[in-house]
Amino acid sequence: MSSNRSAWQITLIYLIVSALWILLSDNALTWLGFGAELQQRLQTVKGLMFISLSAGLIFFLTRNYLRRRRQQERELRISEQRFELALAGSEDGVWDWQLNSGQVHFSRQCRAMLGFSETGKADPAGKWAELLHPEDSAAARQALRDHLAGRTQRFHHVHRLRHQQDGFRWFEASGRALRDPTGKPWRILGILRDVTAQKESEDRLRQAAVVFDSTTEGVVITDADNRMLNVNQAFCQITGYSADEVIGAKPSVLKSGWHDADFYQQMWQALEQDGNWQGEVWNRRKNGEIYPQWQTINSVYDKDGKLSHYVAVFADISKIKRSEQEIDFLAHNDPLTRLPNRLLLNERLENAIQRAKRQDEKVGLIFIAIDRFKAVNDSLGHSAGDDLLRAAAQRMLARSREQDTLARLGGDEFVLLVDDIQSADALIPVAKRLLACFDQPFDIDQQPLHLSVSLGISLYPDDGNDARALLTHADTALTLAKDSGRNTYAFYTQALTLHARERIALESSLHQAISGRQLRVYYQPQVDLSNGRIIGLEALVRWQHPELGLLTPDRFLPIAVTAGLMISIDEYVLNQACQQMQRWLDAGFGLQRMAVNMSGSWLERGQVVESVKQSLARNGLHAHFLELELTETEAMRHSESNLERLDSLRQLGIALAIDDFGTGYSSLMRLKRLPVNRLKIDRGFVSELPHDQNDAAIARAIIALGQSLNMELVAEGVETREQAAMLTDMGCHIAQGFLYSRPLPAVEIEELLQQQLSSSLS
Ligand code: C2E
Ligand code: MG
Ligand code: MG
Repeated sequence: MSSNRSAWQITLIYLIVSALWILLSDNALTWLGFGAELQQRLQTVKGLMFISLSAGLIFFLTRNYLRRRRQQERELRISEQRFELALAGSEDGVWDWQLNSGQVHFSRQCRAMLGFSETGKADPAGKWAELLHPEDSAAARQALRDHLAGRTQRFHHVHRLRHQQDGFRWFEASGRALRDPTGKPWRILGILRDVTAQKESEDRLRQAAVVFDSTTEGVVITDADNRMLNVNQAFCQITGYSADEVIGAKPSVLKSGWHDADFYQQMWQALEQDGNWQGEVWNRRKNGEIYPQWQTINSVYDKDGKLSHYVAVFADISKIKRSEQEIDFLAHNDPLTRLPNRLLLNERLENAIQRAKRQDEKVGLIFIAIDRFKAVNDSLGHSAGDDLLRAAAQRMLARSREQDTLARLGGDEFVLLVDDIQSADALIPVAKRLLACFDQPFDIDQQPLHLSVSLGISLYPDDGNDARALLTHADTALTLAKDSGRNTYAFYTQALTLHARERIALESSLHQAISGRQLRVYYQPQVDLSNGRIIGLEALVRWQHPELGLLTPDRFLPIAVTAGLMISIDEYVLNQACQQMQRWLDAGFGLQRMAVNMSGSWLERGQVVESVKQSLARNGLHAHFLELELTETEAMRHSESNLERLDSLRQLGIALAIDDFGTGYSSLMRLKRLPVNRLKIDRGFVSELPHDQNDAAIARAIIALGQSLNMELVAEGVETREQAAMLTDMGCHIAQGFLYSRPLPAVEIEELLQQQLSSSLS
């Protein structure tokens, strides 16, 4: 506008000066009074002068104008070049939008950023809205509208625009509108910056921050001087230190003192050489606890390759270590008692044998079994059984030497490996100590429980050269200890091996014995002590072995139990006894009772009631002539369902007797509950009568107990008249024993009965 005015002013001045010149010069010529011809010529000169002056003026003005313009253009070009250079340096692009015409100009940089070629036809101009990412479109347009409406000082927005070859990229657009005097925007000019990389690194940083905070692995960042700059939440949880406590300190605050200087030196060396180190470190928590961690340390370098930080990431592996140790422990130890198991025992035994071989020494192996453990387990339950095993293990361990190994093989079987001994005799005090461990009762379920153990002993090199042989032989010796009444120890001898072989041979021929009718039933009389008359009989099994001759039950019944043949034997004897009794009743021998032994397995398996019914029915015998005997140990260990079976037997009218009374562990509660008519005093308390005071006291006590429970008493194993007399005095009225008769075959018993019948008739 001002240039227009100056142009007008110059033109006006020129017009005035020209007009004045024309008017004044013409008047001056007239006033000077020149002639018409001279005036004519002066007029021409004057005109020429005017033209020359005007031309000169035009020349100077034009020249000045053009000079200034060129100068301005040059300056503009320089400033444009500077601007372009500055933009190129900053990698920003420029856009210029004429709002009225809708024309948009994108700078070269801008086009390149959006993937448009410099020379190609495709043009981003006017396409801004189309290039916007659908998710960002609304917000970007709103930001523009706000600025155009004057609600914001500056247009600024970050959004995605479609790149011609590379999908969407992130851009930061900013600009400012130019407005007319009324404030209406007519043009908006701004810059565009590709911030994709920045955005991605921001995202990465954000993700890294989340990982840093949420990972369960501890993370420590230190500076190049190894001072802690930052630690994460997991670090604090694992070490027990808060971030404030450790930032600025060196990681050596966690040192456990378990690693020597060499260890750290190697770590730093690896960090220097390779830029990273990985390994297990034992550190100390704030509470003093030392724990293992698996740690990775990385060196971080700046752009110039200078060390700037260390980043250490570590996991607390104490739990893994513990479970590794536990797995390792359980592979070699019994979980219940924590004692070494068979595997570890074998290892130690092999080692002990090797050592003994070199040093010409002996190794002892004691096989230990808790007597009647099964009864405890069955009657008190498995958890009480477990408690007992633990307590027994504790006691035995406390009494063993440190260099010896007490192992549990399973069930109630333990083994003590006694290392470094000179002779078998050295094992006797060890065995006695083990037996003594069981002198005191165990307190299980708040009940005192009296137990004992049987021990079988074998010796290297006397009884075997390897672990396997020693174990087998100790086990064989254990059987001997059990057979000789339990609560004792026995050494392995060659004879024992023969015994074991014989057992195996007997077991296989026992099957044939049952089917091949080799079993015999012998009968032993029970006598009324007041008159010496046979009032009953006990049926006792025998095996007529084709080669070994007549075998008594102690030779084959234990084998029958393990071979599962007891039930067949009992049923056979029952049937024979019922048949025989009915015959003798028919013959008029006036017998009151036929006693038949009942094994635990028969009672347990449940079909005993049915078998008895059938046997009675088959032989036409009345139930009250039959008595079933159950040993005290069996009677005490059976479960409620067995009690019900005993009740059913009683209900059939059958009498029940407890055999070998005094040898087991009767509970009075249970005894009262049992539907029993008779107690048979064990031979063990009778044989030493009348001399043994203790036995006499026990016999007297049993008789008193029986009487108070309203039970009949039978004394077993009466061999002398003194015994009979003493028992009569004590209040026992029935006896069985060699004094009256050994167990005999039916034919011989019949003779006795016949004699008795004849004498009573005469
Ligand atoms: P038990 O039922 O206590 O039988 C009494 C045992 O004592 C018999 O031994 C008998 O011969 C023996 N005996 C009797 N009087 C005397 C004596 O005065 N002195 C001595 N030293 N011994 C005497 P046996 O026949 O060898 O039977 C042993 C055990 O085998 C029996 O003890 C019984 O528990 C069991 N048994 C025998 N036959 C059978 C059977 O058919 N079934 C079952 N389940 N067990 C049986
Ligand atoms: Mg008996
Ligand atoms: Mg008996």
